[in-house]
Amino acid sequence: MTQPIKQHLIDPEICIRCYTCEMTCPVGAIQHDDTNVVVDPDICEFCMDCIPVCPTGSIDEWRVVDTAYSLEAQYGWDELPEQAEIGGGDTDEAEALDPAIAALLEDAHKGAGGKARAPASAARPSINLYTIARPATATVQGNFRLTARDAGTDIRLVILNVDGQAFPVLEGQTIGIIPPGTDATGKPHLPRLYSVSSPRDGERPNYGNVSLTVKREAHGVASNFICDLKAGDRVQVTGPFGATFLMPDDPEARLLMICTGTGSAPMRAFTQRRARTVGNRSGGMTMFFGARSPEELPYFGPLKKLPETLLKTHMVFSRLPDQPKEYVQDRMMAEEEAVAALLADPRTHIYICGLRGMEEGVEKTLTNIAESIGTPWAALRDTMREEGRYHVETY
Ligand SMILES: Cc1cc2nc3c(=O)[nH]c(=O)nc-3n(C[C@H](O)[C@H](O)[C@H](O)COP(=O)(O)OP(=O)(O)OC[C@H]3O[C@@H](n4cnc5c(N)ncnc54)[C@H](O)[C@@H]3O)c2cc1C
Repeated sequence: MTQPIKQHLIDPEICIRCYTCEMTCPVGAIQHDDTNVVVDPDICEFCMDCIPVCPTGSIDEWRVVDTAYSLEAQYGWDELPEQAEIGGGDTDEAEALDPAIAALLEDAHKGAGGKARAPASAARPSINLYTIARPATATVQGNFRLTARDAGTDIRLVILNVDGQAFPVLEGQTIGIIPPGTDATGKPHLPRLYSVSSPRDGERPNYGNVSLTVKREAHGVASNFICDLKAGDRVQVTGPFGATFLMPDDPEARLLMICTGTGSAPMRAFTQRRARTVGNRSGGMTMFFGARSPEELPYFGPLKKLPETLLKTHMVFSRLPDQPKEYVQDRMMAEEEAVAALLADPRTHIYICGLRGMEEGVEKTLTNIAESIGTPWAALRDTMREEGRYHVETY
């Protein structure tokens, strides 16, 4: 299989042919004829100098392709081509995957109670571009501890840059990290999966980097390897994976996000995507986020700063001194009216992510709340799942 590449293009429908980009490009990659302004894929070095000078934004277009569009093809366009499917990116992803990865994903999604589907308005994901046999190499840009220094849990935000290679990810997808070395049987370690916690345009917008939120597990091979990474270290990466746990692009959709610990990773990506695109003009998001204490809650600070019209957060703690234990399902019950209104709204999408142990309690609470509005939960859940509105990823 050829390695896909990321190609820089200019949208001919929006471009006003001012040629500022062409005058700015330091390597002469941009040229024009009487019809279009185009980028030579053999010369462009992705320096991004042309991006801020464009008055219309037509310059900021990218496609992942197996073979770059030629200059002749670009000169012939009245409009940009759609992003084509790459590397077998289809919603029936299990067939395309390494069996070990397919089994991990199937197990993580089984709490949905049936075959999961992507939201109808979700962007089409690319999957399995990089495999165990042909991984990509990423460079670590940063590794920050999110939990308090003295907290018992060590959770890190690790930022990776997949050097010069196309690695398109959508919010809700996972990537594989291959720890170096071999297992007890002498075979190379298999990749472990981690949700991306950055939106599709990158941890830093348009820099094409991705962030992960990783918890150090006692004696865990990959989690210790990742949590110990330093800026400049190189890592073998597979993926992206996941064709169903995706966010709707419909700005009117309402998101009910229920998570514990590192299950907040995809929720952070969803939140950032909306904050960067539709913001308060969206259908809104509600999050129930559980941790043992505020010191062990990744993203507590940044999440608190978002306006309630964009994100209503319920931080729930199970180990506060002198207070009874509270879990996400308890707070959902306390907020019964708001949750019931979300369940009754056909624009609502539910996302549950985090520890496997959270499923049972959340399921019971959703059953109680759905029944309080005269709806049997099992039937509503199946309808939501078939409509791509109910998503579970637990591990
Ligand atoms: C779809 C999906 C998404 C995921 N997303 C994330 C994410 O966003 N963030 C995240 O942090 N994790 C995530 N995970 C979990 C992640 O993939 C790994 O399973 C996790 O990091 C542990 O991997 P490890 O190699 O460190 O542990 P392993 O070496 O695989 O060990 C597995 C478990 O056994 C325990 N163990 C191993 N050796 C010993 C020993 N000698 N004594 C006692 N205990 C031992 C470890 O503590 C660990 O809990 C996700 C999993 C899935 C399936």
